[in-house]
Amino acid sequence: MRIIVCIKQVPDTNEVKINQETGTLIRKGVPSIMNPDDKNALEEALKIKDKYSAEVVILTMGPLQAKDVLKEALSMGADKAVLITDRKFGGSDTWATATIIAAAIEKIGNYDIIFCGRQAIDGDTAQVGPQIAEFLNLPQITYIKALEIKEEKLEVKRYTENGDYIYEVKMPVVLTAIKELNEPRYPTINGIIENFGDMGEEKIITFEFADLILDESQIGLKGSPTNVFKSFVPVKSKISEIIEGNTTQEKVDYLIEKLSEIKLI
Ligand SMILES: Cc1cc2nc3c(=O)[nH]c(=O)nc-3n(C[C@H](O)[C@H](O)[C@H](O)COP(=O)(O)OP(=O)(O)OC[C@H]3O[C@@H](n4cnc5c(N)ncnc54)[C@H](O)[C@@H]3O)c2cc1C
Repeated sequence: MRIIVCIKQVPDTNEVKINQETGTLIRKGVPSIMNPDDKNALEEALKIKDKYSAEVVILTMGPLQAKDVLKEALSMGADKAVLITDRKFGGSDTWATATIIAAAIEKIGNYDIIFCGRQAIDGDTAQVGPQIAEFLNLPQITYIKALEIKEEKLEVKRYTENGDYIYEVKMPVVLTAIKELNEPRYPTINGIIENFGDMGEEKIITFEFADLILDESQIGLKGSPTNVFKSFVPVKSKISEIIEGNTTQEKVDYLIEKLSEIKLI
């Protein structure tokens, strides 16, 4: 069985600052991390590998520095790593990103499960996983919080706001993981020693534009049907009032009056 896990390198958003003039993220000097949901996707793939001896292939699309998340994933136990990188891919929106990743997955081939995180903490759209499934014409189950292999099929629990759903699905399939799925393992000491040096570099295969079956009109700004016109931090306009009163009843009456005034009750 071959499991492909899509991993995005994202800025550690607790530390991100916004350029107030341009509305863009200030990435300089901001540490990057493996997207948290992708870590859950990777952990689930590794659990399947531990139990059924699957091959876990990780891929990321990004600049050269995105190799760091691949090395981290290798040191957690992934077998092979693919970096998808080319200047021509710059400016890609989610549609173009998923087109490129789907082409890379086709090149890797022989896949049974394609795992993504539910969403990336920087772009936050949760579109890439479902788009990959559409481009590869595969079934997809998003928001998964439990998984079991039942012979040729998977039994998957999907979280929704209205309750959990259990699905049975044949492979190949695209799944998107949420944090409730598992507790990701830490990289091992040996894994770090082996993969953060030159040996790690050797394990990373690079796919550029010329390696993939893609047309220039499908990628970058040209291949992106969406455009970010402006991004900004919303101004917080919370007005709070502490309700005074001599008795609880007085405070409750005042609260009811206020809520009625603004037609909330
Ligand atoms: C007009 C426009 C231009 C843009 N230009 C750039 C640009 O030049 N450079 C840039 O970095 N971003 C750019 N972006 C942002 C980029 O499109 C998104 O970051 C990217 O498509 C992923 O979308 P997302 O972050 O919402 O991921 P989501 O859809 O929230 O991610 C879901 C899951 O998909 C997988 N995934 C997503 N992205 C990747 C990836 N890159 N590699 C592997 N797996 C992935 C992960 O498993 C992730 O958990 C641009 C966006 C727009 C709209």
